[in-house]
Amino acid sequence: MAMIVDSHIHLHELPQHIISRYCNNEKFVLLAVSDDIPSSEKTIDLSGKCKNVTAAVGIHPWNIKEEIPTDELERLKALAGRVRFLGEVGLDKRFVPDTFKTQLCFFRKILSLAEKNGMGLSIHAAGAWRVVLDELASYRVRAVAIHWFTGPYNLIKEIADRGYYIGVNVALKIQKKARLIVEKAPLGILLTESDAPYSYRGMTLTPDEIPSAMRIISDLKGVKIEELSEAILKNFSGFLSKAGAAPTWLAKVDP
Ligand SMILES: [Zn+2]
Repeated sequence: MAMIVDSHIHLHELPQHIISRYCNNEKFVLLAVSDDIPSSEKTIDLSGKCKNVTAAVGIHPWNIKEEIPTDELERLKALAGRVRFLGEVGLDKRFVPDTFKTQLCFFRKILSLAEKNGMGLSIHAAGAWRVVLDELASYRVRAVAIHWFTGPYNLIKEIADRGYYIGVNVALKIQKKARLIVEKAPLGILLTESDAPYSYRGMTLTPDEIPSAMRIISDLKGVKIEELSEAILKNFSGFLSKAGAAPTWLAKVDP
């Protein structure tokens, strides 16, 4: 089995003995996202210790209250100067519609920060798929992955045409909608992800589930598992490279 790509994991939330299983494990390459300022600091720290981990800093839309304190934004900007990715950031109209106005205001600040620094984004867009794409259109940001994409099928072409990626979550094992997305999306935009340690309908999402999710994707796409692994790894390395992140394992991947 080739390397396992986890393009969206909340590594900072896992207990140390679990982190140790993935950290510097050559089988895995991870993009570790953050939820707030303390977790952003922890994620940067982890990426410094684990050479297979790329850090993303950010404030999750679920953690956005009525107002974003100015000092929090300044602290995030300072942390952003140390990494190449912002995440988990975005908009959520499905689970936290009440704070949407503040979310939008903050997301625009994130987008201009990403544009200014040439950074990549790991985006949460539950119930706000269309709005997120509309907002992105106003900024020059190249490295974009829309995590756990289950949005309308008719957005897939636009996402692909813009050179963005979609995260296919291991929940596709039980989520029919996610399998339909895989069927319809071009192979060149797919990234695998766990979103660990989140749990979905009783299923604990972990990077260890990715190989079995890969087998399902391989069936759905009608491509051999080796071919699929190579394609996903190539997509992930393309995604990271667009944001100027060049981890050491990239040397092993053919450009
Ligand atoms: Zn997440």
